Amino acid sequence: MKNELTRLFIEQFQTSPQVIVRSPGRVNIIGEHADYNNGFVLPAAIDKAAYIAISLRADDEIHLCAVDLKENFSTNIHNLKPIGDVSWSNYILGSAAQFVKKGISLKGFNALLTSDVPIGAGLSSSAAVECATVFALDYLLRTGYERIEMVSMAQKAEHEYAGVMCGIMDQFASMMGKANQVIKLDCRSLSYQYVPFKLDGIKILLLNTNVKHSLASSEYNTRRAECEKAIELIKPHHPSVASLRDATVEMLDQYVLPVNELVYRRSRFVVDEMERLNDACKYLEQNDIASMGECMFETHEGLSSQYEVSCKELDFLVNFVKDRPEVIGARMMGGGFGGCTINLVQENAIAQLISEIKPAYEAAMNLPLDFYIASIENGTEIL
Ligand code: ADP
Ligand code: MG
Repeated sequence: MKNELTRLFIEQFQTSPQVIVRSPGRVNIIGEHADYNNGFVLPAAIDKAAYIAISLRADDEIHLCAVDLKENFSTNIHNLKPIGDVSWSNYILGSAAQFVKKGISLKGFNALLTSDVPIGAGLSSSAAVECATVFALDYLLRTGYERIEMVSMAQKAEHEYAGVMCGIMDQFASMMGKANQVIKLDCRSLSYQYVPFKLDGIKILLLNTNVKHSLASSEYNTRRAECEKAIELIKPHHPSVASLRDATVEMLDQYVLPVNELVYRRSRFVVDEMERLNDACKYLEQNDIASMGECMFETHEGLSSQYEVSCKELDFLVNFVKDRPEVIGARMMGGGFGGCTINLVQENAIAQLISEIKPAYEAAMNLPLDFYIASIENGTEIL
């Protein structure tokens, strides 16, 4: 990869790159719809990554090349602003702009980008680009920021230049990931700990439904409102409850269930999911991967029937693998209404599984099924 990128860079810019940075995509093992409820998530960096090669220039110009898209873009450091209708260059420009916002005098630069994180599949190809860019510029401008600071800069790039008000998880996982470990991240305090994730003979298989139902954003807002409603019902009795993070099943039973059954089901899922994430971490510490996998199936069941953010395509994929002994755990991943399922599968059984599930899905749903096989690797690093 390093040699190939160097060759492409020289061809493009007639100079050598001064640094090449790799920053990965991510999966989330468990902990869905947890961020806005101040709960925990359990993401990990994967072996699919964005790579950016950069050299500083003597002038103020910025020259960008997206190898995979065969596109170039140029501007200069005095004219940093988002390009209309989100272009790939926004992720790089938005990352560079964070240095300016901190009072650093940015220099002109050449950057060449390539990535094997599938775009728009829910593996956060955008965070990978942002983290790679921030890390490379931090190195070249000798700003010496802590990783955690760079996570926040990458997140702001996404907010300000892509207009996506994402939480912190994606950039956090890309920047902070470690091989064979998952990150137990507290979305309230941003404190975190690494939990061992030893997958001997097991791989992460992502199955892409290739749908994104238009319900996704309106239902997302509705779920947020339903969680707020549960808090409203509990708060008069327990003033210290500020989010579902602070709520217990007893509180839901007492103050939510008698008033609003739907809000009860939604909030019950969130509270159960936090408990499940804690259980999953315990199982991982004990190297009990089978019980951990059960938690993933339970999460899917909750997302599908309690929280109701699944869809027939996601349910089809999880139901198909549920009773197969070679599948340790599976669930829909991400906000819902499309995207990927994440499956933990015995490596030597993946080919057979794909050969069965792909034609079955394509026949039943009349949609193509894409798949990616991933392992858990280090976060952002210089090559
Ligand atoms: P994801 O869920 O993959 O993060 P997003 O829509 O948030 O999906 O981000 C995808 C966008 O990130 C792409 O449309 C593109 O602008 C940018 N991007 C990701 N990977 C690449 C790449 N290899 N080359 C150029 N741009 C990329
Ligand atoms: Mg994204």
